[in-house]
Amino acid sequence: MNCPFCPHDGSRMEIHAHLADKHPERVILGHHDGPNDPYFEIGCPWCEQQAVQSVNPGGRDPAFLQEFQREVRLVAFDLLLYHLQAEHPEHIGLAPSTAPEEGGGEADRT
Ligand SMILES: [Zn+2]
Ligand SMILES: [Zn+2]
Repeated sequence: MNCPFCPHDGSRMEIHAHLADKHPERVILGHHDGPNDPYFEIGCPWCEQQAVQSVNPGGRDPAFLQEFQREVRLVAFDLLLYHLQAEHPEHIGLAPSTAPEEGGGEADRT
């Protein structure tokens, strides 16, 4: 599979780690309503779909996002990879998930 943002390729696990290492800015981290309500936002590079998800800071720690930003980004990139695998497999070097061509063939005989 290819990285959605650069030519790097590797297994899903490698790309997942690579995204967090090389493209951390693709995940926007912020706070809805004060430091106890952090969220992340990640957008698809090929469609308008965006995921915004609240992060549940286990200990209600105001520094949660700073301390766990890598973990939060990994969660966000995981969501992105699921979306890409389902919606844009051809953009990341995978075969399309649905293969309508397979099987058929005898349909158009006139
Ligand atoms: Zn990359
Ligand atoms: Zn998309």
